[in-house]
Amino acid sequence: SGGLDSTTTLAIAKNQGFEVYALSFDYGQRHRVELERAKIIAQKLEALDHKIMTIDLSQFGGSTLTDSIDVPTNRDEEEMSLEIPITYVPARNTIFLSFCLAYAEVKKAGNIFLGVNAVDYSGYPDCRPEFIAAFEILANLATKVGVEGKEKLKIHTPLIQLTKADIIRRDIELGVDYSLTLSCYNPREEGTTCGVCDSCLLRLKGFSQAGLKDPIE
Ligand code: ZN
Repeated sequence: SGGLDSTTTLAIAKNQGFEVYALSFDYGQRHRVELERAKIIAQKLEALDHKIMTIDLSQFGGSTLTDSIDVPTNRDEEEMSLEIPITYVPARNTIFLSFCLAYAEVKKAGNIFLGVNAVDYSGYPDCRPEFIAAFEILANLATKVGVEGKEKLKIHTPLIQLTKADIIRRDIELGVDYSLTLSCYNPREEGTTCGVCDSCLLRLKGFSQAGLKDPIE
């Protein structure tokens, strides 16, 4: 996406010496403006290619990100963690990873990087290490490259156990310009952030804990 986590993940993959093919999704999200940011970030971080897949999950709805349900605002972390948030998009990461798997197989790539995080959003079932481990098994069962290949497909989630502050610190070490990133679930039309959705609040908290000021408005 055009957010902090995806950007940091891309920077980490590059830093580890991988050649990166980036994949973003236009899935009917209300914060579609993130795709414009993702394009710029992929170019800046020298991804070899950046594809944007269109899969219209708004036809299903069922999430405040893809449906006309209000994005929750001004919630404290206790409220955020009480139940799986309405910002959860049904099966989103399973769908995304399936597309990644197809792309990886065509590119003969053995490594998939995903910017999921299990710390700040303990509520998202498809951000948990158990889910990633299960998908990795599936990836090796489901593909020609997994069955015939000498190398097993691996799913890397370098941020999964990091706090937002850790992620921001990592970003700075890697020299990432996070003024380009956009994390808001409900940005204004001109692309500025709301400052009160869960994603904005966690980002603000992360910067504050890292002792830094977020460069975006
Ligand atoms: Zn926001």
